[in-house]
Amino acid sequence: MSRWLVTAGLQLAIDGPSGSGKGTIAKLMGEELCLPVLDTGLLYRFIGWRADEAGLTLDDEQAVLQILPTMISTMAWKAQGIFFEQKDCTSLLRSESAGSRASKVAAMPQVREALLDVQRELARLGCVMDGRDIGTVVLPEAQAKFYLTASQRERARRRWSQLKEQGKNADLERIAAELKDRDARDMDRDCAPLEKAKDAVHVDSTIMRMDDVVERILNVLERRKLITKKL
Ligand code: C5P
Repeated sequence: MSRWLVTAGLQLAIDGPSGSGKGTIAKLMGEELCLPVLDTGLLYRFIGWRADEAGLTLDDEQAVLQILPTMISTMAWKAQGIFFEQKDCTSLLRSESAGSRASKVAAMPQVREALLDVQRELARLGCVMDGRDIGTVVLPEAQAKFYLTASQRERARRRWSQLKEQGKNADLERIAAELKDRDARDMDRDCAPLEKAKDAVHVDSTIMRMDDVVERILNVLERRKLITKKL
């Protein structure tokens, strides 16, 4: 049970580069406010994965577009993750290579356009949604927007320590280089690049604990009367 009364239909947009902690923060905020959490990165990861499985080169937008309706109709995107043919494929989509494929299909304007309705429909009743363009493009009317960042070095370190915890082999320098490439692809693309929405609150989490970031966000929501503490 949440300790907060939450404005009906509250949409909380959290954008930021990879490793900024937005996934963790979105999850914690969802728990705190009892709102579904929608990770839009997973959606792009899924499209990149299916396109690759279909043998497409990830620079052929028309080919991806052709099979996009089938991809969408065979998946179920839920707060718990993405299901393909009734199987949860979320963990498969979390790899670095899936992230890199995702950023290639994510640079395709017509693919992005086609995914807008899918995202907006799920967000309709209120949610925490995280991604790169939620505050700017997907939910420009969201009542609260946060732009989460951290230094590139710290983001690479977080990813490295996550992989280590999972018992995986991880090389910090390689992760830092991949992160730099992905940042460049996400920030420099023409369509819906990663950028702070004008009305988003910037939180730099480089030296903050995740709990403190959550507190900061709750304070903003409370001050704006979007949430109220239950008595
Ligand atoms: O957030 P995550 O790392 O899972 O996202 C994977 C990739 O999907 C990003 O690098 C980005 O290129 C793309 N993406 C996007 N717009 C979003 C969410 C993710 O372009 N709203």
